[in-house]
Formats: sequence, structure tokens, C-alpha cells
Amino acid sequence: MENQTVAPQEQEILGHPKGLFYLFFAELWERFSFYGMRALLTLYMVNVIFEALATRDFAAAAVYASYGSLVYASTVIGGRISDKILGMRQSIFLGGVLMALGHFVLAIENNMAFFLALALIVVGNGFFKPNISTFVGALYKDGDTRKDSGFTIFYMGINIGGFVAPLLCGWLGRTYGWHYGFGLAGIGMLTGLIVFWSGIKKNVFGDKGLPPNMEAYEKKYLGLPQKHLITVLAFLAAPVIAVLLASYESVYGDQNIVNIIFKVIGIVVLAYIAFIMFKATLDERKKLFVAVLITVFMTIFWGFHELSGSVITLFAARNVNLSVIDAAQTNALNSMFIIILSIPVSIMWTYLAKKKKNPRTPYKFGLGLLFAGISFYILSISGGSADENGMVPFSYLLIMYFLISVGELFMSPVGLSKITDLSPKRIVAFMMGVWFLSSAFAFQIVGFIGKQLAVESTDSDVGGLETLAIYTGGFDLIAKYALGAGLIVLLAGPLIKKLMGNVH
Ligand code: GLN
Repeated sequence: MENQTVAPQEQEILGHPKGLFYLFFAELWERFSFYGMRALLTLYMVNVIFEALATRDFAAAAVYASYGSLVYASTVIGGRISDKILGMRQSIFLGGVLMALGHFVLAIENNMAFFLALALIVVGNGFFKPNISTFVGALYKDGDTRKDSGFTIFYMGINIGGFVAPLLCGWLGRTYGWHYGFGLAGIGMLTGLIVFWSGIKKNVFGDKGLPPNMEAYEKKYLGLPQKHLITVLAFLAAPVIAVLLASYESVYGDQNIVNIIFKVIGIVVLAYIAFIMFKATLDERKKLFVAVLITVFMTIFWGFHELSGSVITLFAARNVNLSVIDAAQTNALNSMFIIILSIPVSIMWTYLAKKKKNPRTPYKFGLGLLFAGISFYILSISGGSADENGMVPFSYLLIMYFLISVGELFMSPVGLSKITDLSPKRIVAFMMGVWFLSSAFAFQIVGFIGKQLAVESTDSDVGGLETLAIYTGGFDLIAKYALGAGLIVLLAGPLIKKLMGNVH
């Protein structure tokens, strides 16, 4: 009753601004579409798009990597355009429409439509993902202690989408055909858009997320106000990106055009950060150095974690004894564990903090990488329990996903907030972009591994002892690299701690 006298943007649910719950459901549905589609993507490429190629695994690994890298790199551009011209609301709308369109185009069975669809999702995600995350932050005033738990709730929404979607889209794909699975992903995205739109209609966001500068918003270029020009350019970017995605064949060694583009971007970003560090004060320089280190550790972690949609899905399809769920549906396991574990883990941090034993960031990161290492070690020894057809028990995959999800919770949410603490105010937005780039670069690692573990065959039933040896051998190497990286981070912990100064 009391609420009726309070303006909608001031109303609260569970102690949080009401707007958070609209963003929660909008992001839940967007991630539903993203992960529902991702669960089918590699299997669809291997079994349909590249079916006739003996090198279909290689091609699928290359396209998956290019798609993943571009889908996260586009967030840097989408974030900038929103900051300067469009504002968060408009960006989220534009992104959502492009993504929904992408998912529906994916429902058309045609190779050209396939690459165009992925490209629409790349551009759409660039506008949607960074801005909905920043919007959450904008709901709270600086220093509001509810902000961290607001992000925890939001991360939960991401993972509810990531849990339900592979189950449903996987089931639809298997029972009725791929395109029903992709179509449902599209409906998910439309639902997200409707939720967001209803939040705006009910005025739960107050004046948040409007264009930052009306003059720039209305300013005309080529006869069109920028607000419309950006929409036109976004649609025009899609075919260009589609061409990049379709150029999966190697042009230099085993590098394709997108691999080369990301090498150049990496060098430019590092050079630019070195330049900023050179001009910064000593304290800023130390902190920035740690911010870069954290981003690099995160890149390594995602590089192994994001294998779930490619090599691990193929391993599940070819070498894991599945009865209750199918290979596409195993993509739900990571999110399932995040949902189960995120509250216990955050209670653990609070408990340890009270006892003054909350580990500092480098130790959490070192442990996170160790968890990733152990998770791949479990997969690597699964071969020992294989039956005569080279099929391993499902429990190995389940334990693997449990362990890597613990690792994720030690790193991803922690890293996000440390980046903001460690970066000088004037470049926080830029460093956020670099943070998202860590996922983009991670997909280059995913692509590299996927190409190494590609099995040459056009046999739709490929599998058995032959692929088992390839996969477990690869997992063994990954385990060693992740464990090695984790140990190095732990050993360097005292030094990194010193560089971080007063940041915990
Ligand atoms: N699972 C998280 C999400 O979808 C993070 C993924 C990533 O950054 N690689 O938002």
C-alpha cells in the first residue's frame, strides 16, 4: 500500500531497486537465447554446415573461435557508443532486436544465412551485454553497499538463463530439428526485450540510461541524426562480419584473418596500456600493472572454460555415456553449479572476512586456475574408466563442471570489482573494455586448442577409442598448463599483494 505514494524508480523489492529485477529478467532471457544457441552451435556446424568436409572439426573450431572473439570484442565498441551517444536504453533495445533477428535467421537452413545470423548476434551482443551490466551499476549510488549483492543477483539471472536454455533448446533440437532449437532461442530474446520495455513503460528506471548528450544524439551526419545513423551502420556491419566469420580457412600457417586481426588488437591494446602506465604516477602504475595481470589470468581461465561449447561438447557427444541428457544439454551443467554454489561461496567470503581470513585477490585467482587444472585432470583420467567402445561415465563430466564452476566463482565476480578498484578513475571505462576483451582473447585460445584436437572424419558416428585418446591427451596438457599457471600465480601472490597497496 505504502508503495503507491513512492515513485516507481524509488520502489524496492527484496531491499533492491525495483529496476534490478527488470534487468535481471531481461538479461536472463538474453542469456537464455545466447546459451541455448551456443549449446547447439558446434554440433550443428559439425553435423550440418560442414558435414561434407573431412576437416569439419577444424572448420567448426575456427568459426566458433571467431564468433566467440567477435561477440565479446564488439562489447567494447557497443559500450563506447552508448557512453558517447545512444545511452544504455537505446543500446539495449538495438542490441536485443539485432540478436533476436540473428536467432531467427539461424532458423533458416542455409550456409549464407548461418554466417549472417552469427554476425547479427555479434553486433547485437555488442550493444546489449556491456550496457545491461553497466545499467545494473547505475541503479545504485556510489558507495551503496547493496551494489555487490545486486551484481550477485544479476549473475544468478545470467546463469538461470544459461541453465534452462541448453536443456530446452537441446531437447527441441534433438526431437524436432535444429531450427526449432534456434527458433526458441529467438523467442527467448524477444521475451527479454518485452521485459525491458515494460520496465521502461512502468518507469522503474527513472531517468537512468537516457542518451548522455542530446546534442550528439540528434546531430546529423550524412543527412541522418546519429541515433538513426548508428542503427543503419549496425545493420551494415553485419554482412562485413559475416564475411569475416566465413573466412575460417587459414591464410598464414594455421591462422585465419580473424586470428591475425586479434593478434594486432592485442599488440595495440598492450602498447596503449604501456603508454598510459608510462605517464601515470608510481602508485597508479603498480595498480594498473596488477589490473593487466588479473585480466591475463582471467583470459587463461576463460580460454579453458569456454571449451565447454566446443571440444567438451564434442567429447560429450562422442565419448561420454549419456542417458538422461544429451551432448548439447551438458552445456547446462556449468550454470547449474554456479546457481547452486554462488550463495555458499559468497557466504564463505563474508565468514572469512569476519575472521580476517578472506584470501586476497591473487590467491583467489591462483586457486581458481588450480580448480580449472584439477577439473581438466579429472577429464584426462576418465579414459581409465572407458568401456570397450571408448565411452566414459558421465560422473567425470559432472565433477569436471563442478570444479571449474568453483574456479569461476573464485575469479570472475572478484575480478570484475577489482578492475574498478585498481584503475584510475579516468580510464575505468577503458579498463572495463579490456576486461571484456579477456573473453574475446580467450576464444583465440579455445580456437587453438579446438584445432589441435580436431578429428578428421566425415563419419557421423565418429568416436570410440580413437577420439578418446585424442581428447584425454589434450585434457592432460590443458590440466598441466592450468595447474602450472595457478601455481605461478600463488607463488607470485606476495609480490602482487604488495603492488595492490590498499586494494584487497
Ligand atoms: N557466463 C558469463 C556470462 O555469460 C561469463 C562468460 C564470459 O565472460 N566468458 O555472462
